[in-house]
Amino acid sequence: MNRFFKDKLANCVICRQPLSGDTQLVCIHCKHDQLRIYYPGSLPSLIHIPTIEANTHCNYVDQVFAVVPYVPPYTDFIQTLKFGRQLLLGRLMGNMLVDWLDANQVTEPSGILVPMPIHFLRFMRRGYNQSQLIAKEVAAQRGYPIGENILSKCRYTSPQAQAKRQSRFRMRHSFASRRLNGETIILIDDVITTGHTANEAARTLKKAGAGRVCLWVFACANDRIHDYCFRI
Ligand SMILES: [Zn+2]
Repeated sequence: MNRFFKDKLANCVICRQPLSGDTQLVCIHCKHDQLRIYYPGSLPSLIHIPTIEANTHCNYVDQVFAVVPYVPPYTDFIQTLKFGRQLLLGRLMGNMLVDWLDANQVTEPSGILVPMPIHFLRFMRRGYNQSQLIAKEVAAQRGYPIGENILSKCRYTSPQAQAKRQSRFRMRHSFASRRLNGETIILIDDVITTGHTANEAARTLKKAGAGRVCLWVFACANDRIHDYCFRI
């Protein structure tokens, strides 16, 4: 995986062909040959698609948008951003999220971006929060404020437990939020699988006084998402 991104500045992160001119990260060909999630009709959110909603647990989240399915090369983006210290990928993913929001005319005028927090032990070990890198790019391009100290992860969950897909029971009370007063919170995350983590974060935020809670994620790992993808 590291070898894949070793030459990131010289080569396209998707096809590994040399980049030309001032092109960064993704070459012209790959920029025009990518998968995106399509929301049929006027459905306002991923969780309003019945087949997706059936195995996603987001009853405290008002709106969920994801940009790409959790398949290669996007799986590499996420794994390498998390474990390969290629922080530029956070910018790329944030960029793709903004492009997708623009294309679908999604706005939350008074929203505050809240990156999905990681436990401070994990932060110390990794040195960064990958969701924060994505959120920074969205904030820079869209002008949203980032609520740095609104939500924190107060319970440590081991990578093994996380890999086993966190249950609602295991996630319960794993976040803490400062007091809120009806604000619209836009949670930013890299990937959604079952939705348990995001749902517990949203539950905590609403209990603390948040109004609307949206979830904008880079990738969706739901098995049925492939029915709602197209190539751009
Ligand atoms: Zn390419």
